[in-house]
Amino acid sequence: MRQLFDFCHRLTQAGSMTTTRRTGLADDLTDLQPDAVGATPAASGFQLGVRHRPDVTVVPRTTSEVRTAVRAASDRGLPVTVLASGHGTRDGACGGVLIDTRRLDSVAIDPVARTARVGAGVRWGAVVEAAEAHGLRPPSGSFPGVGAIGYTFGGGIGLVARSDGWATDHVRAFEVVDASGSGSVTADSDPAAFARLRGSGPAPGEVVTAMTIGLLPAGPLTGGALVHDLGAVGEPGDPAALHAFHEWTRDLPDDVTAGMSVVPYPDRDVIPPALRGRRVARIAIVVRGDAAAAGRLVAPLRSAVRPRHDTVGPLRPTDGHRVHAEPADPHAYTGDNVLVDDLAADGLDAVATLDGPMTVVGIRHLGGALARPADVPDTVDGRNAGYLVSALAPLDPEQAIDDPAGAVAAADPTRALGPFASRRTGTNRAFAFGPRPS
Ligand SMILES: Cc1cc2nc3c(=O)[nH]c(=O)nc-3n(C[C@H](O)[C@H](O)[C@H](O)COP(=O)(O)OP(=O)(O)OC[C@H]3O[C@@H](n4cnc5c(N)ncnc54)[C@H](O)[C@@H]3O)c2cc1C
Repeated sequence: MRQLFDFCHRLTQAGSMTTTRRTGLADDLTDLQPDAVGATPAASGFQLGVRHRPDVTVVPRTTSEVRTAVRAASDRGLPVTVLASGHGTRDGACGGVLIDTRRLDSVAIDPVARTARVGAGVRWGAVVEAAEAHGLRPPSGSFPGVGAIGYTFGGGIGLVARSDGWATDHVRAFEVVDASGSGSVTADSDPAAFARLRGSGPAPGEVVTAMTIGLLPAGPLTGGALVHDLGAVGEPGDPAALHAFHEWTRDLPDDVTAGMSVVPYPDRDVIPPALRGRRVARIAIVVRGDAAAAGRLVAPLRSAVRPRHDTVGPLRPTDGHRVHAEPADPHAYTGDNVLVDDLAADGLDAVATLDGPMTVVGIRHLGGALARPADVPDTVDGRNAGYLVSALAPLDPEQAIDDPAGAVAAADPTRALGPFASRRTGTNRAFAFGPRPS
């Protein structure tokens, strides 16, 4: 990988990126709208720590334009890379065709069939808005800017996941383009490809141009967060809130989906004074039910944690981003995860006191409908897991692009996952982020 990166980097720096190949590709792409063939993008969407270096970037409006681009690459033995939102980008394109899906942005709701057909460039926020008008919601996740299709390839752990199951359980069809043509992939038309797409994602050279996915009743939902201060960064943190969360999740009905993040905020002016230099735990909760039902279910956790802030209340799907409150601006980051059958107590103690480069640890409670066998085969890893523990660290974008191995090694977020390894059952591909260490 490092050798490949160096090769790409050197060619680009020298301004000599295979002009012949690029010219040849351009000849093959003359059928496309002139503005569909663009310059090489400088970055990779939301992930600023990876740079794409394709020969040509195509920004198609139609499936037919995707077909032309894929065929042109295939005829020349060149790779095809897809850029949707960039949240999950790991490897930058090195030559070949980069397909930027932003213009494949149609969302069509069928309120009778209770489905949404979404184009490859659609982010969950647009589907949530379109579905809400019909009293429906998609099985979307914590951040509206994430691409609907890329998220679903990894299984998709939604805001109401323990009640809904994996997002991928709701997929009816993928529309796929590859070197051999295009067509709809369903459980009946191609069971093996349908299973692979639902959990492992596309094969090299495959582009999913649209997906049809089932929708759920919009509500009632109750959600928000309990926010608790664990102490000053650099001092031993009090793990009591982490253990209280663990205890509370042991016996929850499927109607409750919850996760916890622990963020060591740097002592910098850009951080609000109340958070500056503090290690803060945020317990994100969504209950499928009204506020009274949610109040009864959350009461034991509230009294154990005694949070500084409590925002749990009636929740519209379009306000779902408030539950986890993730940063909205593009940045450079690296991260990984472990699926575990249970949370190791010493792992929770270590998270409360984790030192060194800034690392955000996330714990998502799984089980419930996520543990049910899929109606049709899939390749999701995590149906047998009790929790997903993720660790994510910010990177300097320039260092990450120039020396990905060095940047990832210095940030070293995976040190937070070590204490959970004894309970490991697998890894979720959607929560592995950013440039790779080797
Ligand atoms: C802030 C944040 C919040 C998140 N929240 C959740 C969550 O709540 N639940 C959850 O399960 N996951 C979550 N994720 C993980 C997210 O689902 C993955 O990062 C996912 O890969 C993002 O897909 P994307 O299309 O947005 O990103 P991209 O980086 O554009 O795509 C990810 C990968 O899929 C490929 N790809 C995307 N679209 C296509 C296509 N149409 N055809 C072929 N290949 C394609 C890309 O080439 C790339 O390799 C979150 C990630 C972040 C950064």
